[in-house]
Amino acid sequence: MRWWKQHNQNYQGRYMRGVKHLVQCHCILPQYKGKKDPVFHKFSVFSVIDNSDTVLVKFAECNSCGAVHKVYDICKSEIVVGRDEVKSSLKIEDFKYSMPSQLFELLIQYNKELPDFEQAQFTFDNEMWESTMVLSREDLGTHVQGKILRFVGKEKFRIESFTHKTEF
Ligand SMILES: [Zn+2]
Repeated sequence: MRWWKQHNQNYQGRYMRGVKHLVQCHCILPQYKGKKDPVFHKFSVFSVIDNSDTVLVKFAECNSCGAVHKVYDICKSEIVVGRDEVKSSLKIEDFKYSMPSQLFELLIQYNKELPDFEQAQFTFDNEMWESTMVLSREDLGTHVQGKILRFVGKEKFRIESFTHKTEF
């Protein structure tokens, strides 16, 4: 069983699920420039997987260099040559009109990024109650502590804290 299958597999019998994953770009963040082994920048993308295990293709911009990626599988993408933006992709402001305002405000408050808004919208639209998403986390040496948002029901959300041992 692949790790992203653990969530919401049976939701409404449609087996659609969403996953946030990282794709690699060809750009290198300034702090890694000039290193012997280049560390390519990775950015997160939210993708939907249908009931035949197919990842629905989507286009996303790198959050560092703006390169357009065709994301065709989990953690896999190819750069679309000759494009430097996707005007049709959703922006954070767009979600103001499609999700409850308290949910939107909460995600803004925690400085969440576009894929988080997409994930929240997907969870809400598909009424995947009891699903959670991470709002914040910090590494405290022996433990990681953070907060999660639980989708309890329409118009009902709950913020919970978690603490677990750091894995080595
Ligand atoms: Zn990039």
